Amino acid sequence: MRGTNSQYNKATNLRLILQVINKQPAISRIEIAKQTALTKQTISNLTDILDKAGLIKTLGISKSGVGKPSTLISLNSEGAYTLGVRVRVNSIEVGLYSITGELLDYLHNHIETLTPANISDLIASICTEQLQANAVDPSRVLGVGLLLPSTHRFNQSQRHTEHINRLQDDQISKDIQQQLETKMQLPVILENLAGAVALKETFFGAAKELKSFIYLYLGYSIDASFVIDNKLLVGFQGFTGRLGHLIVDAQGRECPCGNDGCLNQYASLSALEKHIEKHTRQAVELTHIIDNPQRYENLLKDWFDDMSEPMRIALNSLENLFNAETIIMGGDVPDWFLDRFIRSLRPFLPSIAQFNKRELPRLIRAPTEEHNAIKGAATLPIYFALNQQRVPNNNAETPPFSEEHLVSTSPAERLNAIIFNQ
Ligand SMILES: [Zn+2]
Repeated sequence: MRGTNSQYNKATNLRLILQVINKQPAISRIEIAKQTALTKQTISNLTDILDKAGLIKTLGISKSGVGKPSTLISLNSEGAYTLGVRVRVNSIEVGLYSITGELLDYLHNHIETLTPANISDLIASICTEQLQANAVDPSRVLGVGLLLPSTHRFNQSQRHTEHINRLQDDQISKDIQQQLETKMQLPVILENLAGAVALKETFFGAAKELKSFIYLYLGYSIDASFVIDNKLLVGFQGFTGRLGHLIVDAQGRECPCGNDGCLNQYASLSALEKHIEKHTRQAVELTHIIDNPQRYENLLKDWFDDMSEPMRIALNSLENLFNAETIIMGGDVPDWFLDRFIRSLRPFLPSIAQFNKRELPRLIRAPTEEHNAIKGAATLPIYFALNQQRVPNNNAETPPFSEEHLVSTSPAERLNAIIFNQ
């Protein structure tokens, strides 16, 4: 990371310094100067601004090494906040986090009557109450990270037969995002589970040191995200990584997207539910299957056998296309399930990934963490505040200052306001 000493780039340099400070628990100004190629004087001036804005704090004096002792600084957990929201078919989960990734409050609301039409109202009222209950100043909130289910899942009774156009599904998600922005007057970032959790690993977890990796998320659909040099690959209009709709058998099973033979029809958790329901001839919830593996062992074994070939093809495509340092796999299932899933894919199909010496295995299970997805969602506003990357343009069809959609601020602009409006 290199900074620039021109005054014009003050905001850019401040953001760069915050990125560097964010990477370690404690750092000296001299070390920041080294890592950013900015002068010691510039670092001193800019860290003073961040200190006044309440975004950093002084930890103490470091006496290690040669030379003068230096003062260590870190991000101030009370400097800025972020909200992560995950909507599922009959629940809304909200996590309030500090900029340093500490969970301050978590709410799980079971709601039977959740529909695309009432989601934004419900989320807005839960988030507003949560901010008030924790006495968080809304001007210090960088934004909301939002994870939505595929909308065709809202109608449980029809979920196996209903065909919904993929684009129509995306449009409903965008509408919910825009409604929530207007209601909360905060930037709302819509992302898939894989993208959100990948950024969490980049910021706070196992992937901090990785140059490139793919995150695979096993849920009711299978998502993938791509991170290169700590930056998330953001697709056109903000959508990317729908690995579950990769066609693995052109003559295969019908998918709600309109194609035949999509990976989701074999290896997703919806495919698992369908497989068990087909053989037991009754509706079975995923949690019931996961909590009673012995009872379903024969059916589980058949399913792992059935999904292994389609999933190996998908993995081979990912490796040959991207050749990342590793692929990290997480999901809405316990560790034993992910371990068995990964084991059933061995031996992997040959690919470009097997050439040269590898430091990491080709596919690894994500580390266990409570509230993984929510923390991922909450990382999105922090990521877009600290990086120069533009927020995915989810509002392409809305004029920027229309009456219907007055929020024009991004997490980066909100961070600027925290820094400069003191
Ligand atoms: Zn499909």
